[in-house]
Amino acid sequence: MIKTRAIVLHRFPYSDSSFIVKALTEESGIVSFIVKGGKKKESPFRGALDPLALSEVVFRQNPNTDLQFIKEATLLDWRKNLRNDLLSLAKAQVMTEMILRYAPQGVPLQEEFERLEQAIREFDEVITDKSRIFAQWLLDTCDMWGYNLDLTTCSRCGRTLEKPAADFFPETGGFVCQSCLGVEHPRARLETLNGLWALQTGGKIERPEFAENALLTYLRHHIGFLKEIHSIKFLNETRKLFDYH
Ligand SMILES: [Zn+2]
Repeated sequence: MIKTRAIVLHRFPYSDSSFIVKALTEESGIVSFIVKGGKKKESPFRGALDPLALSEVVFRQNPNTDLQFIKEATLLDWRKNLRNDLLSLAKAQVMTEMILRYAPQGVPLQEEFERLEQAIREFDEVITDKSRIFAQWLLDTCDMWGYNLDLTTCSRCGRTLEKPAADFFPETGGFVCQSCLGVEHPRARLETLNGLWALQTGGKIERPEFAENALLTYLRHHIGFLKEIHSIKFLNETRKLFDYH
């Protein structure tokens, strides 16, 4: 019998009365649960198995099946504030979908759990500056999955950057300093370069979508995203709603 904290990544109907819940557990990595009768109003799990909820689950791990029966699920935090913030919600959905699609299956993912839990908790907090959360999670994910991105060094001369890089190549992750770039026109936009610099130095990111997209492109080139991340569409639509520029 395993008792562990879990973040609900995804939930979908399975039959008339059941659904399947995929969760990132602290102890056992990604686990798929079949929840019989879970759609009924009086289901004891209601809320605890909502996507993005943090819960404590109890289950017996059956090694002969991919679908585990859940015995207990206790809601620890439903993330009420996050659910009322469309942009944070859209970013959290991209994070959970990326974990679901690209994290290794069948192995413990303790660091992934901690990073995701932290990002979702920060989105849920009542603070004003949420500009760094998703970019920081993407940067940490590059690190965790073995594609460390060095934000501090010029990839051409090897010198430490002392101000925002003059260019960035998201395909390779290479930053270029002003003296190496010379009179060439940078390919990266100023918003991207300033955003990645702010991420590194701990400042507020003025236009986070540029740094976020650059990090997504970098990860995409390294993982070789075979499957489309559907929730990115929703994120882009949501970004347009919040674009006051
Ligand atoms: Zn240089």
